[in-house]
Amino acid sequence: MTYPIIAITAGQILRPAQAGEMQQTTTGCSTDYVDAVVRAGGAPLVIPRHTDPEAVRAIVALVDGVLFTGGGDVCSLAYGKEPHPSLTLQDPARDVAEIAAATAALERGVPILGICRGIQLLNVALGGTLVQDVPSQVDGALQHYTHSLAPIAVHTIDIEAGTLLERLLGASTAPVNSYHHQAVDDLGDGLRVNARARDGVIEGVEAADGRPLLALQYHPEELAATDVAFQVYFNWLIGEALQFQGRNTA
Ligand code: MN
Repeated sequence: MTYPIIAITAGQILRPAQAGEMQQTTTGCSTDYVDAVVRAGGAPLVIPRHTDPEAVRAIVALVDGVLFTGGGDVCSLAYGKEPHPSLTLQDPARDVAEIAAATAALERGVPILGICRGIQLLNVALGGTLVQDVPSQVDGALQHYTHSLAPIAVHTIDIEAGTLLERLLGASTAPVNSYHHQAVDDLGDGLRVNARARDGVIEGVEAADGRPLLALQYHPEELAATDVAFQVYFNWLIGEALQFQGRNTA
């Protein structure tokens, strides 16, 4: 069997100095994303953030799928808004790298899965905007940033009929985890909403024309090892990536 190669976007991590060591800035992503891709039968390739969009495009030209991961806030100027005081962990280089990856993947038809920051980044890359701070800007906002001791599902999503998400889950509602203070606001070009929380916050989008693009505001990678209901997204990505690989090697 041929392993489809899945690019996984990575962010910048500040590693404070330990005893006898220098402080370092490293590039990486949660191991949970890597493990979920491997579990589904993919070959993960973590791609770093940097400021050369053409170097990112060179990577996307080689892969069979792209996973956009969680992380800090997208810089608000990237979608034409001045910054809300709550913005945190912005990294313009990561915005540049990931917008380049999204654009290249969409041009080439590479299957895409976006998670948390990933749904927000994809929406911005397609010309959409973000709710910069759900707690202060959404009337009746639920708790979307969980402080539980371990990852748990905390709120319900209502799933739109006739969507890819409904087909994947075979349900009209689902419990999900939640670690975000931002959300999709105005939709990017070619996207449709597939799920909302009960306060109206958008929890999922997908391509309106059936292209393989799925993005979620919650974090399935955290629960996928123990609950197959959260592994299905990664299995979907690898299934689509295998089809894409087959079309490109036929
Ligand atoms: Mn949520």
